[in-house]
Amino acid sequence: MKLSRRQFVKLSGASLGGLLLPRGAASAAGIQRFRLHKPIGERHTICPYCSVGCGLLIATDAQGHILNAEGDPDHIINRGALDPKSIALPQLSNSERRLRKPLYRAPGASSWREMTWDEILPMVADRIKRTRDATFETTENGVTVNRTRAIAFLGGAANNDEDCYLASKLTRALGLVYVEHQARI
Ligand code: SF4
Repeated sequence: MKLSRRQFVKLSGASLGGLLLPRGAASAAGIQRFRLHKPIGERHTICPYCSVGCGLLIATDAQGHILNAEGDPDHIINRGALDPKSIALPQLSNSERRLRKPLYRAPGASSWREMTWDEILPMVADRIKRTRDATFETTENGVTVNRTRAIAFLGGAANNDEDCYLASKLTRALGLVYVEHQARI
């Protein structure tokens, strides 16, 4: 586009005027047009992808959808730095394909069915207890072992110190010896 000197000065003045308007006056309508949710504040959490356990600041809307994820500058591990996986966290959290209820596939069944947590947790607890009791070994070659080798426990990267403490107490109390972490597999 060819501009005369007069047109150039007019256009520059209009653009500069837009930039110098009080904050919000010129842009509020434009910003509002693109805003999908209203943020309600930041929460601290931990990146779920690997065992480094970087700290995140999460902004969510009133429905709990994640709007933004960024590094927590006060976190002792990452000091605000993040890799691309964790910045994509909103996509994982808000995905339509995300599982939100436990799925159960009975022995021999070819399909999964949804269950509630109230249904599935007693079922899991009952199976752990029965398996542990049926396979518990007290001694081996005269040495006290008090263990079961029929159950394994696998931790995940999103477990924090407190989760791991409780998981360790529970699994050792049950006599589990196969206690592992996702990051070592
Ligand atoms: S940000 Fe990267 S390094 Fe840190 S916990 Fe997540 S995946 Fe691991």
